[in-house]
Amino acid sequence: MSIADNIKRVEDSIAAACGKVDRDPAEITLVAVSKQKSVEEMVAAAAAGINHFGENRVEEGIEKIESVNKLVAAPVRWHMVGHVQSRKVKRVLPLFDLVQSVDSLRLAQKLSRLAQAKNQTLDILLEINISGEASKYGLKGYNCCGDNVEKEKLWQEIGAILALDGLRVKGLMTMAPYGAAPQAVRRVFADLFSLREELTGVFAISLPELSMGMTDDYQIAIEEGATIVRIGRAIFGERKG
Ligand SMILES: *Cc1c(COP(=O)(O)O)cnc(C)c1O
Repeated sequence: MSIADNIKRVEDSIAAACGKVDRDPAEITLVAVSKQKSVEEMVAAAAAGINHFGENRVEEGIEKIESVNKLVAAPVRWHMVGHVQSRKVKRVLPLFDLVQSVDSLRLAQKLSRLAQAKNQTLDILLEINISGEASKYGLKGYNCCGDNVEKEKLWQEIGAILALDGLRVKGLMTMAPYGAAPQAVRRVFADLFSLREELTGVFAISLPELSMGMTDDYQIAIEEGATIVRIGRAIFGERKG
């Protein structure tokens, strides 16, 4: 299977998932996650219609962005989807268009300072750790049915991030637990959707983007309201490591 064939298959199954819940496939942004993949593979994906790429490491992304930008016919948008270490933050601007993985107030504050210094407004998503796994980055989502202390904390963090200049919070991002059963995965996506509804009410803001769904679960994510899916293996094949 070529990269172009893979992209066609992914696009078809995005359309099928949309059909199940009466959504328009034009509402879904397909981000090709190109970590560990070569510039040549990325250019092939761009030639087959991809115009959003996601990288999870700042340095690897920066190395490829310049080359890819030079080689593609139509402009592409760049998404940072992985944890950004403190000392790498200043390299994120101005190359990445959307930082999906804002997982702490501290990171948001740094990005805000840098964006203001460059007279820029940076689009971000807030990464939420819905499943509460210790191994995951993200602002800790609270358990819907109990813990008000957690909820209070999340509300405060998000309120503080929304107040920062130089950033535009476009929505939320999450990752489903690795290898979980479809019902558990669906629950995580539905929880992110509910959280978005609650936040838009509490803070009187619009959060149009919900980034959820990867190779193993993007159809479920679309059924649960995803507007951005981040897909690596289904497009580029398995990764080495
Ligand atoms: C690697 C990665 C993806 C893509 O995962 P696949 O299972 O290859 O589709 C999506 N989101 C993030 C944050 C990733 O790190």
